[in-house]
Amino acid sequence: MPRILILGGTADARRLAARLAGRGDLSITLSLAGRTENPVAQPVPVRSGGFGGAEGLAAYLGQERISLLIDATHPYAAQISANAAAAAALAGVPILALRRPAWQAVEGDRWTPVDSAEAAVQALGTARRTVFLALGRQEIAPFEAARQHSYVVRSVDPIAPPLAVPDATYILARGPFAEDDDLALLADRGIDAIVCKNSGGGATYGKIAAARRLGIGVIMLRRPALPDVPSGKTVEQVAAMVDHVLDPAAKRGV
Ligand code: NAP
Repeated sequence: MPRILILGGTADARRLAARLAGRGDLSITLSLAGRTENPVAQPVPVRSGGFGGAEGLAAYLGQERISLLIDATHPYAAQISANAAAAAALAGVPILALRRPAWQAVEGDRWTPVDSAEAAVQALGTARRTVFLALGRQEIAPFEAARQHSYVVRSVDPIAPPLAVPDATYILARGPFAEDDDLALLADRGIDAIVCKNSGGGATYGKIAAARRLGIGVIMLRRPALPDVPSGKTVEQVAAMVDHVLDPAAKRGV
């Protein structure tokens, strides 16, 4: 059977793995970075932890006789996506990517695009605000520089140590989040600014739609540049591309 390695850590990767494994004629392994403390159950065998850069990933592709690499990581996981493209080239293995389209602002949205968490801190300004941070624990340290704000932080893993600011509360939750629930959260907590990523997809769009309804401004971290590799926008599109990309010899099992 052709062996496919999916670089994951997203709900889309999990769905793609289930979809391809369900065919019965492909051997699927899902790769996780191993950062999340309680990862959700996956529908296929999982390997966990970094590979040791592009060279390490290229070596893994060779050792495991991988016929196709699929990058289905989060759009902000730029390092692993760059490594994936480089490793595929090094190992001579075809690559596909699942690139979820970014959200586009619509009428009523009040977005301020910024390039980094540090720029988001600047965009919040000097006056005290109540800020909803929908960011991971590796990204929120710069907000310690703006101690005047009150923060509500929602993340998958605990923020440890907590932010060194006088007023921060924490919500541990994993999407999907419903728009009405996010609307209630933003209203109940008196949120007047949101800082988040442009993740795309429906699972975390609720806060964006809720912010529009409440007239709350969103400071949106811009997406990083990703390598240009053959890609689909949805699980279905990528699943449909697999047979076109797989080496015919690998498909025959030679
Ligand atoms: P990153 O900065 O692009 O990658 C840093 C390093 O982590 C990589 O060089 C690689 O280490 C390792 N790594 C990342 N993803 C991996 C994977 N799927 N399998 C094996 N090793 C992986 O990544 P990140 O932004 O920290 O994201 C880490 C994971 O969380 C990814 O799986 C991503 O899909 C998921 N995630 C990220 C975000 C986000 O906002 N960044 C949001 C939701 C989920 P080596 O160089 O040693 O191979």
